Amino acid sequence: MRKIICAVLGSAVLLSALGLTSCGKAKTDRCRYTITAEYAEETKTLAASMTAKIPNTSSVALPALKFQLWANAFRRGAKTPPVSELFRRAAFYAGESYGETEIKGIAGAESFAVGGEDDNILTLTLASPLPPGECAEVRIDFEVELASVNHRLGVAQNAVNLAGFYPVLCYLAADGFREYAFSPYGDPFVSGLADYDVTLTLPASYVLAAGFAAEESEQDGKRVSHVRAEGVRDVAFCFSKDFRLTEGEAGDTPVRYYSLKDSAPEKTLATIAESLSYYADAFGAYAYPAYTVVETDLVFGGMEYPAFSMISASLSDAEVPAVVAHETAHQWWYSMVGSDQYASAWQDEGLAEYASALFFENHPEYGVSYSDFVASSESAYRAFFSVYSQLHGEADTVMDRPLSSFTGDYEYRSIAYDKGVILFDRIRDVVGEKKLLSALKRYKSAYEGKIASPADLIACFTRSGANVKGLFDSFLQGKCVI
Ligand SMILES: [Zn+2]
Repeated sequence: MRKIICAVLGSAVLLSALGLTSCGKAKTDRCRYTITAEYAEETKTLAASMTAKIPNTSSVALPALKFQLWANAFRRGAKTPPVSELFRRAAFYAGESYGETEIKGIAGAESFAVGGEDDNILTLTLASPLPPGECAEVRIDFEVELASVNHRLGVAQNAVNLAGFYPVLCYLAADGFREYAFSPYGDPFVSGLADYDVTLTLPASYVLAAGFAAEESEQDGKRVSHVRAEGVRDVAFCFSKDFRLTEGEAGDTPVRYYSLKDSAPEKTLATIAESLSYYADAFGAYAYPAYTVVETDLVFGGMEYPAFSMISASLSDAEVPAVVAHETAHQWWYSMVGSDQYASAWQDEGLAEYASALFFENHPEYGVSYSDFVASSESAYRAFFSVYSQLHGEADTVMDRPLSSFTGDYEYRSIAYDKGVILFDRIRDVVGEKKLLSALKRYKSAYEGKIASPADLIACFTRSGANVKGLFDSFLQGKCVI
């Protein structure tokens, strides 16, 4: 662990004197973030100020508040690169490029330090420990330099992607904060629910795509967008001068699709709406007032956020339905029902991928049968097993392991996605579709808004009359033969 201790700026002292340090007894168990940010096109930077009201929902007093600085994954000298070597050239389209968060000032705390495993954690030391049940209010002024990269955060080729751009409270468990390191594989993001109030100022030539409705106004030739999102794990945006908007509905839910190059946006919009409707029927109601999908430059196929998904502009027409179906399923298995994506990536990825198989089974017009979908996961998994066994003498087939244990994208995909599909297919074989869907409905309703453990998921199956704990265990511990 390396720590850089930084000086506290004068403004911090002034704001502390104004009583910013405490907001008394916590009225809610959600953090509340109020963020104002302005994007400067010439410098590719985002200047921002964030006020965060943080309730101590743990059972221990907190001497300091800790925040994840996801933007620091892009900094020069980061120990963990934001993408593996395999994707490096496709991601960094203009060659080497870097970005990071610079903390400009704080208020409501005595000092701050940037440290953690990879300069990924901002620690605000409080004047006195925050007791359980009490709330602290802090302000963080910061600037984010954006790398030129086709990634979740960065100036991409035809759009700007803004995800993980603000310091977000580290996941607060009963015994204190969890710190997560960035990973080039998977999504290391674990957050409780929070309320957001974001005001984003952009040059007026940009179109903003957001999951939640934006109130827009123009000031001095700039577009000011105000977005409120309540009870969500995070917020993300994309903006571009080239977005085209196609709108529709999934039942009563408005659905928006911002596209760049898609030659058939109406067709993609139909897949978005159909998948949203299917999952709502299969697993339980969609929680948010609208759903937005954006086509942007992204080195991965897609990425999920509450009420918002990114899909890559480099997908072929044939690939789009599968990526839309997968990302939309994450609204249930990530956005609504949270899990520890760092420790147990299979839990949301396996379910999102398996949910896609169910969607295609129920929509034969896409020409992808359930059995073909599962067979393709099986053959991909067996190919991985064979290659890894030959190369390394053995293949680590344990599913329930942290992102840091994977040796590459191929192993990660084979274990979290392909083996995940095979696991849920075997469960359906044993208990039937009715019990499988009943267990997943139970899982959604019991853990919506929470972080569910693998044991919580398994218990939902047991309570639905599906006695498959042994099957789960054999897959998760890498003991079954496929
Ligand atoms: Zn996924």
